[in-house]
Amino acid sequence: MMGEPYLLLPGPTPIPERVARAMNRPMINHRGIEFKDILEDVVDGIKKIYRTESDVLIYPSSGTGGLEAAVVNFISPGEKVLALSIGIFGDRFASIASNFGADVEKMSFAWGTGVDPEQVKKRLLEDKNREIKAILITHNETSTGAFNDLKSIRDIMGDHPALLLVDAVSGMAAIDLKMDEWQLDVVVSGSQKAFMLPPGLSFLAFSQKAYQVYLHNKNNKYYWDIAEGLKYMEKGQTPFTPPISLYYGLQEALRMMLEEGVDKVIARHKGYRDIVRASIKAMGLELLAEDRYASPAVTSVVAPQDIGANPIRNYMQEEFNIVLAGGQQKLDNVIFRVGHLGYVRELDLLSVLAALEITLVRFGFPLKLGVGLQAAQQVIYERHQK
Ligand SMILES: *Cc1c(COP(=O)(O)O)cnc(C)c1O
Repeated sequence: MMGEPYLLLPGPTPIPERVARAMNRPMINHRGIEFKDILEDVVDGIKKIYRTESDVLIYPSSGTGGLEAAVVNFISPGEKVLALSIGIFGDRFASIASNFGADVEKMSFAWGTGVDPEQVKKRLLEDKNREIKAILITHNETSTGAFNDLKSIRDIMGDHPALLLVDAVSGMAAIDLKMDEWQLDVVVSGSQKAFMLPPGLSFLAFSQKAYQVYLHNKNNKYYWDIAEGLKYMEKGQTPFTPPISLYYGLQEALRMMLEEGVDKVIARHKGYRDIVRASIKAMGLELLAEDRYASPAVTSVVAPQDIGANPIRNYMQEEFNIVLAGGQQKLDNVIFRVGHLGYVRELDLLSVLAALEITLVRFGFPLKLGVGLQAAQQVIYERHQK
């Protein structure tokens, strides 16, 4: 089929030509001055994206590795942990903590919604002896397309001393997050989502408060131990051999994001959400996430029951070379997910929405071709008036 596939997954996401070219360079000594310059530059860039002055470590791993690093460094076996889950990734964070010996209490909320701060507040008020040592939360729940308002969760914690650990793997650089201003203690993200890079890097930032907790941490760790990362960072190195090509790409991707400006990057993603949701509604399809929780990074669409989500995805791939994500677990064949994070343009979305309409009509769904497209165009038109 002609051209590159339209990859609209919530990770991995498309790679800009600039980033691909930057990665295609010879290897260098990872214990030399050239690498030191790159490491310092990318750490500086990541801090700007995270809006933090805290320490940031980069691990060669998928996002889940970064979550495991957060758990083994900042949670000790036997400690009580409150895990707030709004979907599969919230469940995963809870499982990692319990596998490493934490006493995990999971609070689950309906899929397609966010965490209800009032319920968390109530639970924390009951915690008179301050037994809860950490709270786990997902920034953007990729499996449902709902996001959490982290600031409101931090606000209701008040002076409760628990650490707030955030899985921002798919939310970072797509949805607003101000690590220092919002007093988030540990924030994890990964390369293959809004960072416009291939999979293979995770980023872990931690506050001074979290570092103090780390000093008394009793969990087993070696590869993930932040003490090693910090020690080597002083020398401009990483403890173990870094994936140098990915660092080249990271440097270029950060340049692109900072040239555009973090606020603009965030606003652009909100625009994508509004375009896709307006269009899907106009087509007469249902959305999984309620408007107020709707993610700027990924949109989950409920497929017409008599068609199913997977035949729609398969047809779009075969006929148009468009790759959408399916639903996971109980949402398999129920929803399909349109990823719109990272290196995406409004025009890409128009193509995908146009192809979706053709697909729906092909499967007999009652739809007048162009209604969804027009709704999308209208949102884009209005955005460009501003
Ligand atoms: C993608 C993702 C992860 C990490 O997944 P990996 O496959 O390990 O990279 C974790 N949390 C969320 C919310 C994600 O979207």
